[in-house]
Formats: sequence, C-alpha cells, structure tokens
Amino acid sequence: MTKTEEKLNFGADVSRLLDIVAHALYSNRDIFLRELISNASDACDKLRYEAIASPDLVKNDPEFKIRVFKNTDDRTLNIVDNGIGMTREELIDNLGTIAKSGTAAMMKKISDGGTQKEKMSLIGQFGVGFYASFMVANKVTVISRRAGDKQAWLWESDGKTGFTVREATKKEAKALMEGRGTAIILHLDDEASDFLIDEKIRQVVETYSDHIDFPIFMNQEQEENEKPVNSVTALWVRPKDDITEEQHTEFFRHIGFGVDEPLLTSHWRAEGKIEYTALLYVPTMRPMNLFDPGRKTSVRLYVKRVFITDECEGLVYPWLRFLRGVVDSEDLPLNISREMLQHNPLIDKIRNGLAKRILGDLNKLADSDPLSYGMFWGQFGAVLKEGLYDAFEHREALLKVVRFYSTHEERTLTSLSDYVSRMKEGQEIIYYISGENLETLKNSPQIEGFRARGIEVLFLTDTIDDFWLQTVLDYDGKPFQSVTKGNIDLDRFETEKDEEKKDHKDESEESSIGELRALIAETLKEEIGEVRISKRLTSSPVCLVAADNEVDLRMERVLRVHQKYESTSKRVLEINPDHTLIKRLAAMMDNKARNTELADAAWLLLDQARIIQGEPIPDPAGFTKRMSNFMERGLAA
Ligand code: ADP
Ligand code: MG
Repeated sequence: MTKTEEKLNFGADVSRLLDIVAHALYSNRDIFLRELISNASDACDKLRYEAIASPDLVKNDPEFKIRVFKNTDDRTLNIVDNGIGMTREELIDNLGTIAKSGTAAMMKKISDGGTQKEKMSLIGQFGVGFYASFMVANKVTVISRRAGDKQAWLWESDGKTGFTVREATKKEAKALMEGRGTAIILHLDDEASDFLIDEKIRQVVETYSDHIDFPIFMNQEQEENEKPVNSVTALWVRPKDDITEEQHTEFFRHIGFGVDEPLLTSHWRAEGKIEYTALLYVPTMRPMNLFDPGRKTSVRLYVKRVFITDECEGLVYPWLRFLRGVVDSEDLPLNISREMLQHNPLIDKIRNGLAKRILGDLNKLADSDPLSYGMFWGQFGAVLKEGLYDAFEHREALLKVVRFYSTHEERTLTSLSDYVSRMKEGQEIIYYISGENLETLKNSPQIEGFRARGIEVLFLTDTIDDFWLQTVLDYDGKPFQSVTKGNIDLDRFETEKDEEKKDHKDESEESSIGELRALIAETLKEEIGEVRISKRLTSSPVCLVAADNEVDLRMERVLRVHQKYESTSKRVLEINPDHTLIKRLAAMMDNKARNTELADAAWLLLDQARIIQGEPIPDPAGFTKRMSNFMERGLAA
C-alpha cells in the first residue's frame, strides 16, 4: 500500500546548520522543545485563520491543541498538534531547505569564527527551528496530514545528509489527532534520556510555553478532566501587572526568534475610536536582517485573538522595523484577507498609534535610564533616523529621541535640546559634521575653529543623516548647518587667543598672506573655486569646504556613489593665516625666483586637504614628485 520511498538530500545550508546544531548548541539543548512547540502553535494559528473561510477544515475537531508525551518503550518524545499539517511538497520544502532570508549571511558569520557565546547568539537570532530536534534525537520521524487532505506523509531523517519521504500507513497516521496536523517523533539519544521523565518534560514545557494560547497536554489520548500544562490565555490579554519579566522574555523569544531579552516592553490597550491591544518589544540586539533593503517589519497582527499574519505591510513604520510583538485588533473583520489589510484605514491609524506610543516610551527610557537608551541607540538609532526622512507626522517626537556624539563630551551622546541649551550667546545655528568614521571626524580640520571658540559640533556618522538633513531644516527654529560648507562667520565668537592676536596684527604680514592667497587661487584655478582666509582652522594649515550653495562634502560623496552625481561648482580651499607653514610661504612671496616652489606648495596643500578628507588624490605621480622635491630641499637646507 505504501508508495516507494524517496530519498532526498538536505540543502547545503541545512547540512551546515545541522553540523553546528550537533556541536555548538549542546549546552542549551532544552530549547528544542520551545522550537517544536512554537511550530505546533504556529500550525494551529494558521489553520485557525484558514478555517474562517473554510470551516469544514476543522469540523471534526474544532478544539486546537498540542500534546507532548513520552513513550518509554521505544524511547521517543512526541510532539503532536492538530494544526494545519503539511503536504508531501511542504515536508520536503519546509524540512529539507532553509527558505529564510539571511541564511547564507549567518552561515558565513558563524564559520568566520567567534566565541561559542557569539555563535550561540547568532544562531539564536536566526532561530534553528525544527533542526534543534537533532540536539536530542538521533532520528526524527514526522508524520503529517494537511487539513482537508486524504493522504498522510512520513518524513524521516537521522539529521546527517538527507531524509526520506513516503506515504504514511493507516497505522502510522494514527499518531495524528483526528486525522490532521503533525506528529514529531524524536528518537532520543542516550544523553537525552531525561526527556523520558514526565517531571522533566513538564518543567521544560512550563518554562517555554506559558504564553502559548493553545492548551498543551501531556497525555497521548484525551482523558477526562485533563488539565493543560500552560495557562492558555494569550499573554497580551492578561493584566499588565500579572505578567512577569520571565514570561515577557519567553514570549519575546517565541515571536522574535531571539535569544536576547527585550530592552523595552510596551503593553497597552487603546480604547476609544479604535480598539486594540499592543504588546511590543524593543530587542537588545539587532536582528540579522535589520538592514535588508526590503525594510520588512515583523509585528504579528491578530484579530480578536486569531492570528492573521506577521507580514502586514503598513502595520508598523519601516523605521520601527526592529519592533517585535503583537497587535490584536477588535475592529478589523476576522475574515479580512491579507491582501485587503494593506489599504485599510484602520491599519493606518494603528500604525500611527504604535509609533506615538513607542516614541513616547523611548523618550521616557532616555530620561530614566540613559545607559539603556545609549544601548538602544547604538543598535537601532540609524534605523530610527530613517523616520526623520520618511514620516513628517512624527518628526517632532523623533527629534526628541535622536542622539548624537559631539565635540562637547566625546564619549557621551547628546540630545538636540541639550545641544541647544549649550549654544553660545548669539549662536543661532546647530553645527554638524558628517562622515563615515567618528575618529576621522573628530580630527577634521574644519571643526578646529569651532572647538577653539567652544562652539559645539555634532558628529553625524550614518549615511541616513545626509538624507534627513535635506528635509529636516531646523530643530526648534534653529537651522542645521554643515561645517564643511559655506562661509561661516566665526569671528563673532571670540577664541581664547583672540585678545593677544589683535595686539600682534602685522600689516605687512597680512598683505603678503593676501598675495599668497591670490597665487594659490591662480595656481589651482582648474580645481578650486575660491581660496579663502579661514576662520575655521586653528592648527591645520588648510582644509576643503563646499561652496555656499552646494551640498556639503559628505553628501557630495554619497551622491556621487549612488546617483553618479557630478558637482557643478568647485570647492573652496581655506588657508589658515596663523599657521607657521602658511606664514613662511607668505614670507616667500617677495622672492619672485621662488614662485615655482610656491606653486608646487599650493598643489601639495590641496592634496593634503584631500587626504585628510579621506579622498583620493587625482594625480598621485605629480604629488609624489612635488613631495620629493620639497623633502630634498628641506634636507639640503
Ligand atoms: P520557522 O518556524 O522559523 O519557519 P522551523 O525550522 O521551525 O522554522 O520550521 C520550518 C517550517 O516547517 C515552518 O515554517 C513550517 O512551515 C513547517 N513546520 C514545522 N513544524 C510544523 C508543524 N508542526 N506543523 C506544520 N508545519 C510545520
Ligand atoms: Mg519554528
């Protein structure tokens, strides 16, 4: 009666994952049960949803449930659910390959090395899922019948190279409850014999599944007055104060595929025009796919306790995509199709409500626990800032929670309101410098003059910064301005040395610096739009800045890479009149014989400014030649 058995190999990723599971995870093997119960619960969720449109699917057995029990005779642990079940093709696809995005990336990270703990956390983030079974079993048998189908199938594997699939016999299919769903049969390793003890099973099930809202029983057959191990109420429905931190952590791990703890938990019930309950978590660690271009969100949508989807586009803003959790709506119709959700105005309202609440809670966290907030910011700040660009309606709230490093205290994050409170008398502008690397920014010549005058400059290191700054023009009426752009009048603010400098102003020196400026401008006229006496510089001889009407230097670079942008106007070279080198060069202006030397110097100064900017030198051969000439002369002198 059984058709011939088919033997298939695991996908390459599965084989590698199984290898890791067998070796790396052993210390925390109890989690296999969480994974399997989680899958059973997902399967019940899926069928409950399908049964709204096709009630026939569940008419034999409308009560969803999960059974976890041992069989001492054949040394097995069994996890049986009456959920959606799997067809032959689904068994092959779901249990033979990994469809999840980011698999390859994770495998690479793991094989790149790292401590056991790091690997563990990576795998945990990714979720080993079903394959965790092989941490305790040397053979796994899966019997499954898709709800509504006639045929049940049997999948079996030793977790090494491949698996077999065949039709299940009538007798084998008896492992299923009321003829639908899935039975996972784990043939336990000797080392996992403790899972043949009811107390052990109960303890692990209790730890991992209190939040599961389908009853979990420990008997194989239905018995009178049988009592579930778990409390069978959806966690988010319970009163806020009744939920322990451990329960939150477990639930967060169930829905978020994480091993970390929630950094922030927001649980509330919205009442009034629209009604919903939301239980949202901010993870401690970045999910693997945070920066995938799809910007996918994964908060689960329920309608009146029935799971609808975890891919509801529009339920959460893409810039809050790090959120994990549940939204349970009272207003949406149960039979709403997933496709219809996207354009539903209720979803828009909920999305807004979630964002408001989360931004408010983040703001509170920033006040009450700056250390945790700093951790949050390090992980998710760059994502949150996308909102400044995307969501005008939440801009004000976002501007309250954004943080930056700045020249004020280099290791401490600052808020914009703190920046404003430290602004100098007469300062109307919020100054920033943007670039990829914080250390490079800290050493930028363009900020020297600001430092000397005690004017704070924000360091912006995320690519997104350059984009939101195009649309967010001010904070609290104070415009943002890049210090690498335009002519900034810093003379209004005195430096500590200004007093003495005034006494020593030397007119002849000033005029020769003017001549030097003209000579440099003439020499570099193909490359540089203007040469300017700098207010920005105190210790470097030169720097580059963008012209007034241009985008700042970093934005120019970003645009060049992403949009093949060619700037139309040339940059400005600023020279520092107080720098010894510039003074010496100026002193050489009298001597016409040395004009070629000065022209070489002009080119070298420009190339220096490019290097410190982290930009390539367009003519390295010319640079090297001039440099050697200078060194030769220097050594000869
Ligand atoms: P994930 O749950 O993250 O998708 P798993 O490795 O845990 O990954 O499971 C892989 C897939 O196998 C699931 O997505 C699901 O489609 C299928 N599956 C696993 N267990 C069951 C089950 N008990 N009933 C139905 N489908 C299941
Ligand atoms: Mg799973």
